[in-house]
Amino acid sequence: MIDDGVVKYSLQFTQTDEVAKKECQKIEKTRERLFSLGLIGAYDNGIGYGNISLRYTKKNAFVITATQTGELPKLSPKYYSLVKNVDFKTFTTTAIGVSKPSSEAITHACIYELDARINAVIHVHNEKLWRFMLENDYLSTNDTPYGTPEMVEDVRDIYKDINPMLNNAFVMKGHFEGVVVFGKSLKQAEKALYTIVQELLN
Ligand SMILES: [Zn+2]
Repeated sequence: MIDDGVVKYSLQFTQTDEVAKKECQKIEKTRERLFSLGLIGAYDNGIGYGNISLRYTKKNAFVITATQTGELPKLSPKYYSLVKNVDFKTFTTTAIGVSKPSSEAITHACIYELDARINAVIHVHNEKLWRFMLENDYLSTNDTPYGTPEMVEDVRDIYKDINPMLNNAFVMKGHFEGVVVFGKSLKQAEKALYTIVQELLN
């Protein structure tokens, strides 16, 4: 099921001017490459997929691409949102910006919580990559839809006994084509993705 277009958690959103322009510009460099490879984009039905975030200061806040931006090759800062907090008890996301955050923000939030050294999270869609990872026993969430409390549980479960800094990629079994990589930097997260692509091509 392709369902990236739907916001499934409650959102406390305050519309402001553009936020965190420096972080937006950093994300853009990575995003342009992923977009050109089709790892971020939109399906024929117009629903966009893929999102990127970057930790904002040292707290659990982060800047993330806005919802339904997948089809746009370039994003100005108005297409980004600053997620200030995700309350995992109520699954309420507090965010500011010109546009609302990606609906996968809660998954990003729980990844930042795994380790303070994680500064970047990338979520892409690709069927070949997704199948390859499922068939080759990469870390995987259960048959869980994205953007749900269950997905957060799954991610925490994966890394209960596994060091996220050494295993920075997983596949989303219940979210068709969904793959997540993360790292200390956008560069490291992006590299994790290309490493798997290389393994697929070998
Ligand atoms: Zn997705």
